[in-house]
Amino acid sequence: MSWTSFHCEDADFTIRSVPDDVSFGVRRSSLQNSQVFRDMFICCDGPNTSADSQTLDLNEPSQLVIVLLRLLHDPLEPPVEAPGSEEVNLSSSQLPRKRYDLSTVVPLPLLTTVVFDVVDKYMLDPSIIDTVWLHVKAHAATDPLEVYSFATLHDQLGIAGKASQYAMPLASYRTDAIKVIPSVEAYHRLVQVQDLRLASIKNILLSENLFPHGYGKCPVHNASKAAIWDAQRKALAIRVNIGTDVAAEMATISQDFRDCEQCFKAFRAAVEMLAYKTRKATRRTDQL
Ligand SMILES: [Zn+2]
Repeated sequence: MSWTSFHCEDADFTIRSVPDDVSFGVRRSSLQNSQVFRDMFICCDGPNTSADSQTLDLNEPSQLVIVLLRLLHDPLEPPVEAPGSEEVNLSSSQLPRKRYDLSTVVPLPLLTTVVFDVVDKYMLDPSIIDTVWLHVKAHAATDPLEVYSFATLHDQLGIAGKASQYAMPLASYRTDAIKVIPSVEAYHRLVQVQDLRLASIKNILLSENLFPHGYGKCPVHNASKAAIWDAQRKALAIRVNIGTDVAAEMATISQDFRDCEQCFKAFRAAVEMLAYKTRKATRRTDQL
């Protein structure tokens, strides 16, 4: 869908952008998707509609008028997920990410500026607004801070929570990037959830008895292999942050377990259990 041009085949009305002096042929029936236009037609339509009243002047730049007319004439479809999206890697602590066919997703900068200006100002139908939010949500994994901030600003706490789980450790962002967060409270919620998540990851690493797990102890090597696992998890716990894939880090010592089938099965089961538990640990601001 193009956001830079607009053309309507069966126009029966004209809308003009006054500042740019550009006119667009439109369908009156499509304008009914806006409360503002609905009200306008109710109060201004009489039995003697003149030719002049077939044109409506809007004091808006043509770029905004194009976006408005697009939303009214071709209601947005939800973003389309890419095949295989959200597949879980059983040996990774990283969250699976939804991926989309990018040609079906409205770009985030357009959403947070022009699209939302239009949606608010012209009071578009709730179904259109809901779909616009699905497009914002589709950017949660790739632009977590922007989506978190924008959703927080509009009280969309579920979407803010979804985005919050993809944020990197806050200290790793440049100050410029952090400035997008709309309030000290919103910033603090991210600090809290990241702190809680880090504590949970360390707790899972250090306190939970993951190895051997599920396949029982190997009668020959248990003590020596458990010591290898133990040394790696303690070393990892010192340098871990919320962005660390702890399961993948533990998996780097797999060579030390390959000499015995039973030990290796137990090792893989332990890595997968660690991955599962760390994926499930608190990570969203709406879980606080
Ligand atoms: Zn063994």
